[in-house]
Amino acid sequence: MDIDDLGNDIEKVLVSEEQIAARLVELATAIDEDYKGKDILLVGVLKGAVMVMADLARAIHSPVTMDWMAVSSYGSGTKSSGVVRILKDLDTDLSDRHVLIVEDIIDSGLTLSWLVQNLRSRGAATVEICTMLRKPEAVKVDIDVKYIGFDVPNEFVIGYGLDYAEKYRNVPFVATLAQHVYS
Ligand code: 5GP
Ligand code: MG
Ligand code: MG
Repeated sequence: MDIDDLGNDIEKVLVSEEQIAARLVELATAIDEDYKGKDILLVGVLKGAVMVMADLARAIHSPVTMDWMAVSSYGSGTKSSGVVRILKDLDTDLSDRHVLIVEDIIDSGLTLSWLVQNLRSRGAATVEICTMLRKPEAVKVDIDVKYIGFDVPNEFVIGYGLDYAEKYRNVPFVATLAQHVYS
């Protein structure tokens, strides 16, 4: 899918496909360096992190394993509920594992700060976070996000895994939607 398939749904492209690809190589290089000699367990947060997980995992040179969690966050609207619920849990025992959470976006940080606590309590050796996008609100929460792709403005964005009402996840860039889409 590309911009020509989207009619007039896109308001503005915030991060291009090329920018994403280049940044992922930089993040993967940093991850390879930081985890030298260690086995990494990448934990992707469904469904938004599917694209970043697939591309990041392939950019990393070290051996990785991948597992997935689904937690409730936004539903079909555009506001965070603040309530976190496990919809699908990991299959992996985290004892002494080096866990790297892979996320699409951090906004209020509610989901991630809860997730970090939860995974630490299962005995992981380390728990770090890699997020493709970060919104301004995230700066206020007290969690250490080790790997960040891009800072985006405080607007609702779609693409590269991020949806609006389950649509637009396969848009290869990150963009805001035109007003008509919401009405
Ligand atoms: P937080 O708990 O940090 O507020 O948000 C967590 C989740 O909400 C993200 O992983 C993502 O799934 C969703 N989310 C936050 N901001 C946006 C956004 O701008 N667009 C979309 N599509 N989802 C978002
Ligand atoms: Mg997410
Ligand atoms: Mg969503």
